[in-house]
Amino acid sequence: MEPTEIPVVRIAAVDKTFTSERSRVTTALQGIDLEIRRGEFVSLIGPSGCGKSTLLRLIGDLVAPTAGRVTINGKPADRARRDRDYGIVFQAPVLFDWRSVEDNVKLPLELMGFDAGRRTARAREMLDLVELGDFLHHHPYQLSGGMQQRVAIARALAFEPSILLMDEPFGALDEMTRERMNQEVQRIWERTGITVVFVTHSIPEAVFLSSRVVVMSARPGRITDVIEIDLPRPRDVETREQRRYFELVTAVREALRRGGADAALDPVGSAGGPTPVAAVGSIDRAAAEGGIG
Ligand code: ADP
Ligand code: MG
Repeated sequence: MEPTEIPVVRIAAVDKTFTSERSRVTTALQGIDLEIRRGEFVSLIGPSGCGKSTLLRLIGDLVAPTAGRVTINGKPADRARRDRDYGIVFQAPVLFDWRSVEDNVKLPLELMGFDAGRRTARAREMLDLVELGDFLHHHPYQLSGGMQQRVAIARALAFEPSILLMDEPFGALDEMTRERMNQEVQRIWERTGITVVFVTHSIPEAVFLSSRVVVMSARPGRITDVIEIDLPRPRDVETREQRRYFELVTAVREALRRGGADAALDPVGSAGGPTPVAAVGSIDRAAAEGGIG
């Protein structure tokens, strides 16, 4: 990064507490400081309930910090959301079955008032990017889980956001599909140069994809380690067999263990992941306030 370049994400001294109806206070995040530079791929990893989704939502202005500041491209996060700096992908792809693949990707562009020609051009370009150009007229229920998630990624990218937020996007997929999707996301990231913040439960996934892995401790969530992933790119199946890859997987695992996370990391990613209902709720909020996907 040039010394003068503004980071895409700057989180300074952020705390987040939730107060329930019975006034029970949950401290989800405490003392979070993090800067993410343009074009980085940063993963957040940690045990269920440590605040990964909350941190992602703070970045995306879907929740507000209790203390501290979140700045996106040098602006307050709410301003960044109005400026459509974000694309968001949740664990459940949240597609509309009655709309074709193409019309799902066009939806946020419709809400924004793009004209029909631009909507079509942009949707097709994005569906080509995720290699679904032959499935424009299919409906989501006709696609596999991995393909549905690629539609969700195309939709999230439709606005040319400067930052893509992904919350366990492949947590519900089988291992083989997940590895293929990792390859796919890497390719999209390299092609677009977009900044990615990626929540995962999977150590191999975090190491394979990331430029840096941010390790969080159990509640209250804090950042305990930031591990630079210096594997050469592009990464492929052979990357997963390299000695350096195993060293980094071990380094992340040990960092998690030091943070007290070893027992709570579950491979399925279900316990702390967003339920489809929660995902729909947040995308509704985003849509209502003009920031879908
Ligand atoms: P993770 O994604 O790492 O599994 P979350 O960010 O979902 O963790 O949650 C962190 C903590 O904050 C958990 O204890 C969770 O119960 C709590 N929490 C998250 N969202 C809310 C909310 N809207 N209201 C109350 N508590 C919440
Ligand atoms: Mg979560």
